Amino acid sequence: MAEMGHQQVMFCYDAGVSLRAIIAVHDTTLGPSLGGVRFWPYQSEAEALVDVLRLSRGMTYKAAISGLNLGGGKSVIIGDPLVLKNEALLRRFGQFVESLNGLYITAEDMGVSVKDMTYIRMETRHVTGLPEEMGGSGDPSPVTAYGVYLSMKATWKKLTGTESLQGVRILIQGLGKVGWALAERLYQEGAVLLATDLSAAQLEEAARRYKVQAVAPDEWYKQPVDILAPCARGAVLNESTIPHLQCAAIVGSANNQLADEEADSQRLAERGILYAPDFLINAGGLINVYTELEGYNRQRALARTEYIYQALLDVYQAAEKRGITPHEAAMQLAQERIRAIAGLRVRTFHQPSALSLA
Ligand code: NAD
Repeated sequence: MAEMGHQQVMFCYDAGVSLRAIIAVHDTTLGPSLGGVRFWPYQSEAEALVDVLRLSRGMTYKAAISGLNLGGGKSVIIGDPLVLKNEALLRRFGQFVESLNGLYITAEDMGVSVKDMTYIRMETRHVTGLPEEMGGSGDPSPVTAYGVYLSMKATWKKLTGTESLQGVRILIQGLGKVGWALAERLYQEGAVLLATDLSAAQLEEAARRYKVQAVAPDEWYKQPVDILAPCARGAVLNESTIPHLQCAAIVGSANNQLADEEADSQRLAERGILYAPDFLINAGGLINVYTELEGYNRQRALARTEYIYQALLDVYQAAEKRGITPHEAAMQLAQERIRAIAGLRVRTFHQPSALSLA
């Protein structure tokens, strides 16, 4: 906890429903901590703890750089969801979330479905990512895709002075929920699309609908394109792929694209490739659930996502000015915002006591 600066970590255990979970609250300077609950068969409690500490810290910076009044939190349930997951376990987990009184707000993550969230909701109000029919925000992917699309426009403006993507060659790795919605927007704007996916059927359908040129899954990073959009898995930018890249910029939705944050962001900079920090440009999903907290409205979620466009340009500018990579600049700007607001809190708390003394 001290190493990563965590505020609170709670271990949850109930033998009756076979629940073993950890809730990590990293930092609540900007607001209540929000982050998904991951249900995963960790090999050990230590492995689960490291994961939840790392993920909750990541949420702090994602919320901070996206201009949201949220802190960073995350939780993990230890075990195989296919074996252990049931209503009683999920509701018991919901009771633990409730016991934190809103310090941590949970959401969907790997191994947990929208339906599972409805069981957690039976025990606590501190839940987001509920189905639309329950007043929730539903699938966040179209909002995430919108943020990535705007980030491509901001990046292209930075590189060429124009934000139009007409005629720009863009390759999408992964035509899943985000990649597909992104392809649709880019096609409408007149971009020239290439894509790869593990599903041949998905690629065929994309070729038919959006004139996408299919690329083999192991060839995606070697294509001469203007923009590469990793929208499948993490760690795809590493010491074996980066030397082969033939693109001007990387703008994609996947989480943790850099295998080694420091070394790989440096490698990209040395190759003259502009890298849009993933944790800023894929924040549309977080913005979507944040909007749910005040009564969901998709138009408001999309409008709020437009913040990412300017925030990304600010990151590029800060990177140039400070002589660092955009990834480092985004981390620094996030930390600076937290520090600035922390200072504000201290001043606010001191003022009334000073007045009462007078
Ligand atoms: P998804 O599971 O719907 O889609 C992933 C797609 O990638 C699938 O079509 C899959 O076949 C393809 N794929 C997987 N491995 C591949 C490979 N090696 N080569 C080519 N294609 C491959 O996921 P999604 O919701 O679209 O999310 C995509 C990425 O964006 C993930 O990394 C996710 O963590 C991140 N993300 C998503 C959201 C969101 O709102 N959905 C928000 C933030 C970040």
